[in-house]
Amino acid sequence: MSAPTTPGRSRRPISSGPSSASRSESWASASIASLTSVCSDDLNSIQFPEARMIGPFILGGLDGYPFVGKTGIGAFSHHVPEGGAALMFVGPHVGITDDGQVGKVVRPGQTRPSDCCGAASAALRKLEAGRITPKEPACYDPDDYQQEALEQLVLRHAGEILGPGKPDEARRFVRMTEVIYREAEAAFFRLLKTVDFEAPAFAFGGILINRDGDAGASIALHRAARVDNKQLVDMTAEFTEWSEAKFKEIEAGKADALR
Ligand SMILES: [Zn+2]
Repeated sequence: MSAPTTPGRSRRPISSGPSSASRSESWASASIASLTSVCSDDLNSIQFPEARMIGPFILGGLDGYPFVGKTGIGAFSHHVPEGGAALMFVGPHVGITDDGQVGKVVRPGQTRPSDCCGAASAALRKLEAGRITPKEPACYDPDDYQQEALEQLVLRHAGEILGPGKPDEARRFVRMTEVIYREAEAAFFRLLKTVDFEAPAFAFGGILINRDGDAGASIALHRAARVDNKQLVDMTAEFTEWSEAKFKEIEAGKADALR
Protein backbone atom coordinates (compact mmCIF):
# COMPACT_ATOMS: atom_id res chain seq x y z
CA MET A 1 0.00 0.00 0.00
CA SER A 2 1.22 3.49 -0.71
CA ALA A 3 2.58 5.32 2.24
CA PRO A 4 2.12 9.06 2.00
CA THR A 5 4.22 10.86 4.55
CA THR A 6 2.56 13.56 6.54
CA PRO A 7 4.68 16.27 8.10
CA GLY A 8 5.23 16.01 11.82
CA ARG A 9 6.51 18.65 14.15
CA SER A 10 8.09 18.95 17.51
CA ARG A 11 5.57 18.82 20.27
CA ARG A 12 4.98 22.07 22.04
CA PRO A 13 3.76 22.20 25.64
CA ILE A 14 0.03 21.58 25.75
CA SER A 15 -1.88 24.52 27.12
CA SER A 16 -3.77 23.86 30.34
CA GLY A 17 -6.71 26.08 29.48
CA PRO A 18 -8.47 27.84 26.65
CA SER A 19 -6.56 31.11 27.05
CA SER A 20 -3.96 30.32 24.39
CA ALA A 21 -6.41 29.09 21.80
CA SER A 22 -9.43 30.58 20.16
CA ARG A 23 -12.78 29.63 21.66
CA SER A 24 -13.81 27.59 18.64
CA GLU A 25 -10.50 25.71 18.55
CA SER A 26 -10.55 24.89 22.26
CA TRP A 27 -14.15 23.71 21.96
CA ALA A 28 -13.18 21.37 19.12
CA SER A 29 -10.11 20.10 21.00
CA ALA A 30 -12.11 19.45 24.14
CA SER A 31 -14.50 17.26 22.17
CA ILE A 32 -11.94 14.83 20.82
CA ALA A 33 -10.36 12.06 22.86
CA SER A 34 -7.14 10.64 21.45
CA LEU A 35 -5.53 7.27 21.88
CA THR A 36 -2.08 6.21 20.74
CA SER A 37 -0.55 2.80 20.44
CA VAL A 38 3.05 3.83 19.84
CA CYS A 39 6.30 2.69 21.49
CA SER A 40 6.98 3.72 25.09
CA ASP A 41 10.24 5.34 23.87
CA ASP A 42 10.60 8.81 25.43
CA LEU A 43 11.44 10.16 21.95
CA ASN A 44 7.83 9.54 20.89
CA SER A 45 6.58 11.65 23.80
CA ILE A 46 8.53 14.54 22.31
CA GLN A 47 8.19 13.84 18.61
CA PHE A 48 4.66 12.48 18.09
CA PRO A 49 2.87 15.06 15.93
CA GLU A 50 1.14 17.56 18.14
CA ALA A 51 -2.61 17.46 18.48
CA ARG A 52 -4.55 19.59 20.91
CA MET A 53 -6.95 16.90 22.03
CA ILE A 54 -7.80 15.13 25.26
CA GLY A 55 -5.20 12.52 25.95
CA PRO A 56 -3.60 10.57 24.63
CA PHE A 57 -4.76 7.39 26.27
CA ILE A 58 -1.65 5.22 25.94
CA LEU A 59 -2.45 1.76 24.61
CA GLY A 60 0.97 0.88 23.28
CA GLY A 61 3.95 -0.83 24.76
CA LEU A 62 7.24 -1.76 23.12
CA ASP A 63 7.29 -0.74 19.45
CA GLY A 64 3.64 0.29 19.46
CA TYR A 65 2.07 -3.13 19.89
CA PRO A 66 -1.24 -2.60 21.76
CA PHE A 67 -0.14 -4.42 24.89
CA VAL A 68 -2.60 -2.56 27.13
CA GLY A 69 -5.21 -4.73 25.47
CA LYS A 70 -8.96 -5.17 25.96
CA THR A 71 -9.04 -3.50 29.35
CA GLY A 72 -7.34 -0.42 27.90
CA ILE A 73 -9.52 -0.06 24.83
CA GLY A 74 -12.60 -0.75 26.97
CA ALA A 75 -11.68 2.07 29.34
CA PHE A 76 -10.91 4.48 26.51
CA SER A 77 -14.24 3.79 24.81
CA HIS A 78 -15.95 5.32 27.87
CA HIS A 79 -13.77 8.43 27.93
CA VAL A 80 -15.02 10.21 24.82
CA PRO A 81 -16.73 13.54 25.61
CA GLU A 82 -20.47 13.70 24.96
CA GLY A 83 -21.02 14.97 21.45
CA GLY A 84 -17.36 14.40 20.68
CA ALA A 85 -15.27 11.87 18.79
CA ALA A 86 -12.38 9.45 19.25
CA LEU A 87 -9.18 9.56 17.22
CA MET A 88 -6.78 6.63 17.50
CA PHE A 89 -3.37 5.88 16.03
CA VAL A 90 -1.42 2.60 16.02
CA GLY A 91 2.01 1.86 14.66
CA PRO A 92 5.64 0.98 15.29
CA HIS A 93 8.46 3.48 14.92
CA VAL A 94 11.81 3.59 13.21
CA GLY A 95 14.58 6.15 13.42
CA ILE A 96 16.45 7.43 10.40
CA THR A 97 19.51 9.57 11.07
CA ASP A 98 20.29 12.66 9.02
CA ASP A 99 23.06 10.67 7.30
CA GLY A 100 20.61 7.88 6.39
CA GLN A 101 21.17 5.14 8.98
CA VAL A 102 17.95 3.14 9.31
CA GLY A 103 16.95 1.98 12.80
CA LYS A 104 19.04 4.64 14.51
CA VAL A 105 18.58 8.19 15.67
CA VAL A 106 20.62 10.85 17.44
CA ARG A 107 18.60 11.59 20.55
CA PRO A 108 18.24 15.07 22.06
CA GLY A 109 21.32 15.91 24.13
CA GLN A 110 23.40 13.16 22.53
CA THR A 111 25.91 13.28 19.70
CA ARG A 112 26.06 9.62 18.68
CA PRO A 113 23.20 7.60 17.16
CA SER A 114 21.45 4.90 19.19
CA ASP A 115 18.95 2.19 18.22
CA CYS A 116 15.38 3.27 17.42
CA CYS A 117 13.26 1.26 17.98
CA GLY A 118 15.70 -0.20 20.50
CA ALA A 119 13.37 -3.08 21.44
CA ALA A 120 12.88 -4.10 17.82
CA SER A 121 16.59 -3.76 17.14
CA ALA A 122 17.41 -6.07 20.06
CA ALA A 123 14.84 -8.59 18.77
CA LEU A 124 16.35 -8.44 15.26
CA ARG A 125 19.88 -9.05 16.54
CA LYS A 126 18.67 -12.01 18.56
CA LEU A 127 16.77 -13.37 15.54
CA GLU A 128 19.85 -13.04 13.32
CA ALA A 129 21.93 -14.90 15.90
CA GLY A 130 19.33 -17.71 16.05
CA ARG A 131 18.83 -17.10 19.76
CA ILE A 132 15.00 -16.90 19.77
CA THR A 133 13.24 -20.21 20.33
CA PRO A 134 9.47 -20.76 20.13
CA LYS A 135 7.80 -20.14 23.46
CA GLU A 136 4.24 -20.05 24.77
CA PRO A 137 3.07 -16.79 26.40
CA ALA A 138 2.70 -18.61 29.73
CA CYS A 139 6.47 -19.12 29.70
CA TYR A 140 7.42 -15.47 29.02
CA ASP A 141 9.54 -13.81 31.68
CA PRO A 142 6.96 -11.76 33.65
CA ASP A 143 9.58 -9.04 34.08
CA ASP A 144 10.17 -8.78 30.32
CA TYR A 145 6.82 -9.87 28.91
CA GLN A 146 6.55 -7.32 26.10
CA GLN A 147 10.04 -7.94 24.74
CA GLU A 148 9.46 -11.69 24.75
CA ALA A 149 6.19 -11.18 22.89
CA LEU A 150 8.00 -9.01 20.33
CA GLU A 151 10.69 -11.66 19.90
CA GLN A 152 8.09 -14.35 19.25
CA LEU A 153 6.37 -12.07 16.76
CA VAL A 154 9.57 -11.57 14.72
CA LEU A 155 10.37 -15.28 14.99
CA ARG A 156 7.01 -16.12 13.37
CA HIS A 157 8.04 -13.95 10.38
CA ALA A 158 11.76 -14.84 10.36
CA GLY A 159 11.83 -15.78 6.66
CA GLU A 160 10.27 -12.52 5.52
CA ILE A 161 12.39 -10.36 7.81
CA LEU A 162 15.77 -11.96 7.17
CA GLY A 163 15.06 -12.19 3.43
CA PRO A 164 17.10 -13.78 0.70
CA GLY A 165 20.71 -13.12 -0.18
CA LYS A 166 23.36 -11.21 1.70
CA PRO A 167 22.39 -9.74 5.06
CA ASP A 168 21.31 -6.15 4.60
CA GLU A 169 20.70 -4.54 7.96
CA ALA A 170 18.67 -1.57 6.70
CA ARG A 171 16.34 -3.70 4.56
CA ARG A 172 15.88 -6.17 7.39
CA PHE A 173 14.97 -3.36 9.74
CA VAL A 174 12.43 -1.97 7.29
CA ARG A 175 10.90 -5.42 6.65
CA MET A 176 10.73 -6.10 10.39
CA THR A 177 9.02 -2.75 10.99
CA GLU A 178 6.42 -3.53 8.30
CA VAL A 179 5.80 -6.95 9.89
CA ILE A 180 5.37 -5.39 13.34
CA TYR A 181 3.03 -2.84 11.78
CA ARG A 182 0.81 -5.54 10.28
CA GLU A 183 0.67 -7.50 13.52
CA ALA A 184 0.05 -4.41 15.67
CA GLU A 185 -2.70 -3.20 13.31
CA ALA A 186 -4.37 -6.62 13.30
CA ALA A 187 -4.24 -6.81 17.11
CA PHE A 188 -5.56 -3.26 17.44
CA PHE A 189 -8.43 -3.89 15.01
CA ARG A 190 -9.32 -7.08 16.94
CA LEU A 191 -9.49 -4.99 20.10
CA LEU A 192 -11.72 -2.40 18.42
CA LYS A 193 -14.26 -5.14 17.73
CA THR A 194 -14.59 -5.78 21.46
CA VAL A 195 -15.94 -2.34 22.37
CA ASP A 196 -18.83 -0.03 21.58
CA PHE A 197 -18.15 3.61 20.87
CA GLU A 198 -21.16 5.82 21.38
CA ALA A 199 -19.35 8.65 19.59
CA PRO A 200 -17.83 8.65 16.09
CA ALA A 201 -14.48 6.86 16.24
CA PHE A 202 -11.64 6.85 13.73
CA ALA A 203 -8.54 4.65 13.64
CA PHE A 204 -5.30 5.41 11.81
CA GLY A 205 -2.35 3.10 11.29
CA GLY A 206 1.12 3.91 10.08
CA ILE A 207 4.81 3.92 10.81
CA LEU A 208 6.21 6.71 12.91
CA ILE A 209 9.55 7.90 11.55
CA ASN A 210 11.79 9.55 14.12
CA ARG A 211 14.42 12.08 13.10
CA ASP A 212 17.57 13.31 14.81
CA GLY A 213 17.41 15.70 17.75
CA ASP A 214 14.33 17.86 17.92
CA ALA A 215 13.49 17.62 14.23
CA GLY A 216 10.21 15.89 15.06
CA ALA A 217 8.69 12.81 13.51
CA SER A 218 6.55 12.07 10.50
CA ILE A 219 3.95 9.39 9.87
CA ALA A 220 3.96 7.07 6.87
CA LEU A 221 0.21 6.50 6.81
CA HIS A 222 -0.93 2.98 5.93
CA ARG A 223 -4.56 2.89 7.01
CA ALA A 224 -7.50 5.10 7.91
CA ALA A 225 -10.76 3.57 9.07
CA ARG A 226 -14.04 4.50 10.69
CA VAL A 227 -15.35 2.32 13.50
CA ASP A 228 -19.00 1.56 12.90
CA ASN A 229 -20.86 -0.85 15.19
CA LYS A 230 -17.74 -2.93 15.91
CA GLN A 231 -16.96 -3.02 12.18
CA LEU A 232 -14.14 -1.15 10.53
CA VAL A 233 -14.99 0.77 7.41
CA ASP A 234 -11.83 1.39 5.41
CA MET A 235 -11.44 5.00 4.29
CA THR A 236 -7.74 5.00 3.45
CA ALA A 237 -8.16 6.15 -0.16
CA GLU A 238 -10.68 8.82 0.81
CA PHE A 239 -8.50 10.12 3.63
CA THR A 240 -5.33 10.09 1.53
CA GLU A 241 -7.04 12.13 -1.19
CA TRP A 242 -8.39 14.59 1.39
CA SER A 243 -5.08 14.96 3.23
CA GLU A 244 -3.06 15.39 0.03
CA ALA A 245 -5.33 18.25 -0.98
CA LYS A 246 -4.95 19.80 2.48
CA PHE A 247 -1.15 19.50 2.45
CA LYS A 248 -1.09 21.16 -0.98
CA GLU A 249 -3.03 24.05 0.58
CA ILE A 250 -0.52 24.20 3.43
CA GLU A 251 2.38 24.21 0.96
CA ALA A 252 0.62 27.04 -0.88
CA GLY A 253 0.70 29.08 2.33
CA LYS A 254 -2.71 28.34 3.87
CA ALA A 255 -1.38 27.47 7.32
CA ASP A 256 -4.80 26.78 8.84
CA ALA A 257 -5.95 24.32 6.12
CA LEU A 258 -6.34 21.49 8.60
CA ARG A 259 -8.58 23.37 11.04
ZN1 LIG B 1 10.73 1.69 20.45
